[in-house]
Amino acid sequence: MPSPYAVAICRRHLALPISFRGSMTILDSEATVGDVTFADLGLAQPLLDALRDAGYERPTPIQREAIPLALSGRDLIGLAQTGTGKTASFTLPMVHRLLGGPRRTRVLVLTPTRELCLQVEESVRKYSRHAPVDVIPVFGGVGYEPQERALRQGVDVVVATPGRLLDHLEKRNVDFTYLETLVLEEADRMLDMGFAPQLNRIVEQVPRYRQTLLFSATMPPEVEALARKYLRKPVVVQVGRRSSAATTVTHAVYPVPRHRKNDLLVHLLTAADHDSVLVFTRTKSGADRVVRDLSQAGVQAGAMHADKSQRERMQALEDFKSGKLRVLVATDIAQRGLDISGITHVINFDVPQQPEDYVHRIGRTGRAASTGDAYTFMSAEEIGLVRTIERTIGQEIPRVSVPGFDFGT
Ligand code: AMP
Repeated sequence: MPSPYAVAICRRHLALPISFRGSMTILDSEATVGDVTFADLGLAQPLLDALRDAGYERPTPIQREAIPLALSGRDLIGLAQTGTGKTASFTLPMVHRLLGGPRRTRVLVLTPTRELCLQVEESVRKYSRHAPVDVIPVFGGVGYEPQERALRQGVDVVVATPGRLLDHLEKRNVDFTYLETLVLEEADRMLDMGFAPQLNRIVEQVPRYRQTLLFSATMPPEVEALARKYLRKPVVVQVGRRSSAATTVTHAVYPVPRHRKNDLLVHLLTAADHDSVLVFTRTKSGADRVVRDLSQAGVQAGAMHADKSQRERMQALEDFKSGKLRVLVATDIAQRGLDISGITHVINFDVPQQPEDYVHRIGRTGRAASTGDAYTFMSAEEIGLVRTIERTIGQEIPRVSVPGFDFGT
């Protein structure tokens, strides 16, 4: 039975600029709903125990809104960025609904990248510590047979990237006859990466009567179309304004000539205490160059981009998470799905071409309960791009001039 809280929030209908709102209930998760605990949301004891182990005290806004709705079986669109607690907002109710049922594949989560796949798997494992729920990540670039064996045994939750999952579906390694819930994670990025045909072929093979949860940071027309096609009377839960940057992040723009960016980076990283820094570059070769220059300056850094093997990427991520590497240098594709708690700084070595990418990147810092800094290095050629970002996020980003580096000085 849905909790009284779920009924209360369902009554609030708010108009937001989503063009197909006729068929939807839209909730504004910014509204205060009192001091809600995880127990108030209707989650079962094994989940409350796991949350206690994780040290989470209160649900985040998206969790407050999404969990009771997902528990009640509704279809849901969650408009939220990484860092808002969105992963738990679907993995918690998913594990709750799996408790006590038969052992067969009942949940499928589709994600755009391997990293996000592993992050969702980790989250399911974390919340099912006290519950007999099995999960398997399925993605390309790693051995096929172990996945085949596990899938054939009928694991409860499959978390997959579309390409590798289709391989398994074509070979009939996986049976979705009893699938109850489909989750589309970072739907905007899946479409950006050209996964629409694969998504269609996968969804054709899962039961029509199911619960579908779609999460996306942005709501372009392509995602709207996807939602119309696959969801039934969904409730939209939106955290914060669309395209708004995480409020706990302090932004700054550093004007610097293009050819001095490396020097500025070394200067900043050696001058002050930067524990765990994620640097974004536009190109793979740029990422490698930054790693080389930092290493020469004695700063431990690793690169994460598409030219690195799966093993190298996982190793770099591990070393970064464990603190062995202070700096991880990534390109845009690699950054999706990176969930690393405790990032203290995000540095945009190049200004992102798309304002949405700026919002995504800085979503890596300023995590659920902490604050972080986001620096953007801006050469004279990139002033226009920064202005576009400022218009999109609705705020001016303060300029910080480092003597000797600013192109104006
Ligand atoms: P996500 O937005 O799913 O990427 O989650 C962002 C980070 O917040 C992850 O490291 C989670 O472990 C953490 N987190 C999620 N929910 C909570 C919560 N209720 N309280 C504290 N931290 C949380």
